[in-house]
Amino acid sequence: MKKLITSCFALAIGVSAYAQKISPTEQKIVNYIDAKFPQTEALLKQVVNINSGTLNIAGVKQVGDILRQEFDKIGFKTEWVTLPDSLKRAGHLVAERKGKAGKKLFLIGHLDTVFEKEMTFSPYTYLNDSTVTGQGVNDMKGGDIVILAALQALYNNGLLDNTSITAYFTGDEESAGRPTSISRKDFIDRAKTHDIALAFETAVSLHTVATARRGASGWQLKTYGKTGHSSRVFSPEMGYGAIYESARILNEFREKLSSEKYLTFNPGLILGGSEINYNEAKANGTAVGKTNIISPEVVVNGDLRFLTETQKNNARETMRTIVAKNLTETKAEISFSDGIPAMEPTAANEQLLGVLNKVSKDLGYGDVKAGDPGSRGAGDISYVAQYMACLDGLGASGKGAHAPGETLNIKELPALIKRTALLLYRLSR
Ligand SMILES: [Zn+2]
Repeated sequence: MKKLITSCFALAIGVSAYAQKISPTEQKIVNYIDAKFPQTEALLKQVVNINSGTLNIAGVKQVGDILRQEFDKIGFKTEWVTLPDSLKRAGHLVAERKGKAGKKLFLIGHLDTVFEKEMTFSPYTYLNDSTVTGQGVNDMKGGDIVILAALQALYNNGLLDNTSITAYFTGDEESAGRPTSISRKDFIDRAKTHDIALAFETAVSLHTVATARRGASGWQLKTYGKTGHSSRVFSPEMGYGAIYESARILNEFREKLSSEKYLTFNPGLILGGSEINYNEAKANGTAVGKTNIISPEVVVNGDLRFLTETQKNNARETMRTIVAKNLTETKAEISFSDGIPAMEPTAANEQLLGVLNKVSKDLGYGDVKAGDPGSRGAGDISYVAQYMACLDGLGASGKGAHAPGETLNIKELPALIKRTALLLYRLSR
């Protein structure tokens, strides 16, 4: 009995410490999230254990169906947005509700992961009491669950009435269907009718979110040379061949541009030899080559990431100049493709961070600051960043996104759900 009294007293202190900062209604939201967490985790486990690599259309749809049922239960109007077959992507899940109170919120998640079906499957597994691993647990099924669990807590406390909230889960974030003018059309059109976009990609920690993200684009380099017996390489008649020319160009890219802040570019595939076959759609190819033959052809595929459009354009100009200075008897050409625009740092984003920071402090979690945009890749939020205030990195915390064995901090997940729920609650009043 004494023990019970002591623990009740401790609980009362805990609650009153909160109560000064968060309202009784907010306390109800927090309590609901704690009580519901076992079911929340069970749902996370269920969706992690379904492979939904971007190209696994059935898997992406299956994860979407599970989330869709949950959104139907909490009064959202749900819809599956299909894409033309030629894009070879699953499509997107949209859940929306419309009202007149507060800010119109656009919440962003994605159903796909980088782990395709052919890769070794890793199921939802505890590594220790605070760390869980599994495909997409961190990027970003954990974040999808943060969105859902926060909205469930608001709904079940009668707090979604008259709010305008759209939860948009793309099915191809990790490899957007091309052209993106088609695969992201509905996403952009719908987002534009909102005031604020919040994306739930990996949280670096409880104390960091993204007010800016770099954009991503692509480039393809092709080099050509004269082919013939290797004993004649370097001669004025035969020149250097395609492989040396590609090596020269890549090395000069690195020398001239690799120290520029927020700019990165990575050659992800190189194919050279006497005869090459490159399959663009599958990102693979074959090469046949002999050491005694000068290579006539090389293809290199790479990405280019940047914080502003100006930075992207300047880098492309420098690369073009380097490509044009060919070695003897070689030719080279480079082409660029736009991928995801940058989410540039803005005052409106900074202001939104202020609201989140207040929620975090009121919950007793401490400060939240803007992370280094250089440490993140591009995300779907960037497509709409020019139209409204944005924050990203609100999802599950963990490590190693995109690598086999990525992890999620399961101890921090309830806190991240509570922070999101109160943020949505305050913004939608
Ligand atoms: Zn992601």
